[in-house]
Amino acid sequence: MKIAVIENNKIALKNVENLKLDNRKGALVQVLGCGLCGSDIVKFVHKISKDGTVLGHEIVAKIIEINSDTAFKAGDVIVTSHHIPCGECVYCKHGNVSMCKHFKETNLIPGGFSEYVFLSEEHLKNVAHLKPENLSVTEASFYEPLGCIVRAVKRANLLKDDTTLVIGLGSIGVLTAQALRAYGYKVIGCDLLEERIEFLKSLDIEAYDVRKLPENFRADGIFMTSGADKAIDTALKYVRNGGKILVFSSTPSDLSAYPNNEIYYRELTVLGSYSPSPVDLADSLELLKNGRVKVKGISTEYKFDDIQQAFEDTMSNKVMKAYIKVKSDDDYNVKD
Ligand SMILES: [Zn+2]
Ligand SMILES: [Zn+2]
Repeated sequence: MKIAVIENNKIALKNVENLKLDNRKGALVQVLGCGLCGSDIVKFVHKISKDGTVLGHEIVAKIIEINSDTAFKAGDVIVTSHHIPCGECVYCKHGNVSMCKHFKETNLIPGGFSEYVFLSEEHLKNVAHLKPENLSVTEASFYEPLGCIVRAVKRANLLKDDTTLVIGLGSIGVLTAQALRAYGYKVIGCDLLEERIEFLKSLDIEAYDVRKLPENFRADGIFMTSGADKAIDTALKYVRNGGKILVFSSTPSDLSAYPNNEIYYRELTVLGSYSPSPVDLADSLELLKNGRVKVKGISTEYKFDDIQQAFEDTMSNKVMKAYIKVKSDDDYNVKD
C-alpha cells in the first residue's frame, strides 16, 4: 500500500507492506480522503514529527474488513477522529480530555495519509460514525476539524446573544464563525486578506479588514484562529473588560504572549482549546449534516501523488484548506 511520510523536509510517497487485521479487534479501512490540518503543517515545518511519520487524521474511509462488537460492517463509509480519552484520569474528569495520556497515545495506524488504516475497537466505539448520506466525502472530512471548533465554542461558555470576534479567516476561522452563529452568538470576523473577508460575507456573516474594525467595537468573546503575534494585540484591543479570549492557534513566539497586567486589571479570561471529545465530535457531525455549518468551497482537492504540492500551497496561503484524495478511482464519491 501507498503511504506518505516525512523524509528530509519533504513529504515522500512510499510503498509498504499491506496492513492486516489478523485477529485484532477493530477494522481495516480504505482511506477515501484526508484533510490536511494546520497541526500537520506545524508538525512538518517545526520538525516536531520525525522522518518516517505518516501525518493526517481527518479521514473518511470505507471499511474493508472488520472484527468488532459494534454495528459497523464491511462496506460502510465512515468518518472518525484519531484520539480517544480514557474518561477516568484527572484531566478527563475536569473536561481537559486532550491532555489525557490515553488520548495522546491513541492514533490512526499508520496515519491518515495512507491507502489503508487500522482503527481499533475503541475508535469504532467512541469516535467513528457513518458518513451522513447528504454529505460528500470531502464535506464529511470536516468532521474532526469542526469538532475542535465545537469544543472551543463550548469552552468559551458565553451567554446567548453575546458578541464574538473571530480573528483570522482561514478555514478554521470560517468554520468558527459559522459554529458561533449556530450556537446563537453574534459574530464578526476579521482578517487582512480581502478574499477571506469576502468569503465570510458570502456566508452572511459580517467581516472586516482587521485595520478597519470599528474603533468602539468590543466583543464579549474573542476567538483567535490566527497564528500571527499581532493577533494578540488585536484581541486585547477588542475584548471588552471582563471578556474572554479563546486561544485556538499557536504563535511563532511564546514569550511576549502572556499579558499579565491586562489579564489582571481588566479581569480577562484567557482560555486554550485544543482537541475534541467524542461528544464534541458527534455535535460537529450534526452541524455538518443539518447544514448549519457549510464547508463547500473551503477545500481544494489534491491527488495523493500531489501531496507535497498540497503542503506547499497550504504553507504559502495559496489555498484555504487542502484535501487529499487518497483513493483516486471513479467510485470515489461513494454515496452510501
Ligand atoms: Zn485536524
Ligand atoms: Zn483520561
